[in-house]
Amino acid sequence: MKELKVNLGEHSYPIVITEDFSLISKYARNKNKCVIVADRSVELLHIDELREAVNKHFKEVFVYSVEPGEKSKSLHMTHRLYDFFILHKMCREDVVLSFGGGVIGDLAGFAAATYMRGIELIHVPTSLLAQVDSSIGGKTAVNLNQTKNIIGAFYQPSLVYSNYKVLKTLPKEEVKNAMVEILVHAIIKDAELFRYMEDNLDRILNLEPDIMEVLIAWNCDIKKSVIERDEKDLGERAILNFGHTFGHAIESAMDYKYKHGECVALGIMGACYISEQLGLCQGDLIIRIRRVLNRIGVFNSMQDCDGERVYYFLLHDKKMNGGNINFVLPIQIGEVVKQEIKDFSLIKNAFEKLK
Ligand code: NAD
Ligand code: ZN
Repeated sequence: MKELKVNLGEHSYPIVITEDFSLISKYARNKNKCVIVADRSVELLHIDELREAVNKHFKEVFVYSVEPGEKSKSLHMTHRLYDFFILHKMCREDVVLSFGGGVIGDLAGFAAATYMRGIELIHVPTSLLAQVDSSIGGKTAVNLNQTKNIIGAFYQPSLVYSNYKVLKTLPKEEVKNAMVEILVHAIIKDAELFRYMEDNLDRILNLEPDIMEVLIAWNCDIKKSVIERDEKDLGERAILNFGHTFGHAIESAMDYKYKHGECVALGIMGACYISEQLGLCQGDLIIRIRRVLNRIGVFNSMQDCDGERVYYFLLHDKKMNGGNINFVLPIQIGEVVKQEIKDFSLIKNAFEKLK
């Protein structure tokens, strides 16, 4: 069992990483009513175990089951959650508990942030991505039309409780996707984590429990340290976007046919190639990163990816970001720099290298 604390003044909260749900009642302060917002697949697999722990703790427990998938991150689904909260007379003293991956965390988090101007939120993340990334930091959001995360709020949970044993049922593709985000954390902040991944990749991909406890806590520690310095994403937090500038543009250009992790993997390499052209990093860094990504097995063919569409989405992002195309570029493992790229030929050359 490992415990960390996110220090954000009055919004501070613990992150608990452990192998079952039995300690929830030790960490959840509030004992009033609780609505569990559950991913339906996760509910079928794991809700009995969770309920055993929470039924004893809360006065009453209700479960709202949500269809898995990004489509559920919508205002329509948020509205259905509000209706459910009202039906069960949820008030500001009660608790919303998210039980699922990042989709459920973002959706339940947004509903909790806005219902009655904010009701207590506990995250029980069940995907590797949610355990190492999305449950920490207080970003909540839903999508509108085709635009991801455009409606949202910063809203910190009161507790993040991760049970790494539930990862055993997570599809392998989801494990690989999350590994790319873990690699992002290593490259931006922690050369030692990168070496740990190089040395233990097979054991990590097999989700060996003792390794997972270390790995999840390590990543939470990195994310928490960034968030503590920049809760509202006004500066340093941007380094978490490493690989995501190109990644998001590729994801949009491919109409979301590729998984997010696959696009970020390409985005990481794209950022490396820009950095190399600017003389900011050495070729051996690129080889090391590429080797780990190959071992994770996330690279997709870029053959049917139209460069013009990627550039279109990069320029669209530029408009949304006050006229700049900002990249996070690697200098060495554990060190990156934020840089505005004005010379579009650097981007085009990097994209050609990805093909
Ligand atoms: P997800 O929530 O869609 O979960 C992935 C899949 O795994 C789903 O099909 C789900 O049913 C299944 N699943 C989850 N846990 C399982 C388990 N233990 N056993 C079996 N199946 C399980 O996706 P995700 O990758 O967890 O999260 C992606 C979402 O997170 C995106 O919407 C993204 O925008 C968001 N996100 C948010 C932040 C943030 O800071 N808030 C950061 C990164 C990503
Ligand atoms: Zn990502």
